[in-house]
Amino acid sequence: MTTIEETLVLVKPDGVARGLTGEILRRIEAKGYSLVDLRLVEADRDLLAQHYAEHEGKPFFEPLIEFMESGPSVAIRLAGNRVIEGFRSLAGTTDPTTAAPGTIRGDLGRDWGLKVQQNLVHGSDSPESAARELALWFA
Ligand code: GDP
Ligand code: MG
Repeated sequence: MTTIEETLVLVKPDGVARGLTGEILRRIEAKGYSLVDLRLVEADRDLLAQHYAEHEGKPFFEPLIEFMESGPSVAIRLAGNRVIEGFRSLAGTTDPTTAAPGTIRGDLGRDWGLKVQQNLVHGSDSPESAARELALWFA
């Protein structure tokens, strides 16, 4: 079945700071997804609080916002059939220490002993999240 979708991918500040943007884009392009739009964004608190609204009140919320404010992210509008689940699969599970080898987080990330899991990338988790997040980052 053809289900053309768009998703929001972020190369988070740790990925940009470590010079991994090219490697992450390489993996996305090699998988065959299409870059529709791409920009470097210095996200402010307001944008980040809306982006991560589902996590408000959790112990890692404040460290997460501070981490995401610490430097620019690369925001990518990515398109393809089933790209939402496809990119989440490329990214790997949330904890980079145990994310499967072969994934972005599993190959390139690890625990740095910080208050938030620095795991290099974000990918929307549903069509509703994708629409909401794309509107925020590509306003
Ligand atoms: P994702 O969809 O895989 O990015 O994970 P979530 O939506 O659950 O969490 C958002 C982000 O918060 C993650 O990517 C991590 O950077 C961070 N995070 C999530 N869960 C934890 C946690 O249990 N502890 C810490 N320290 N950070 C977390
Ligand atoms: Mg999430």
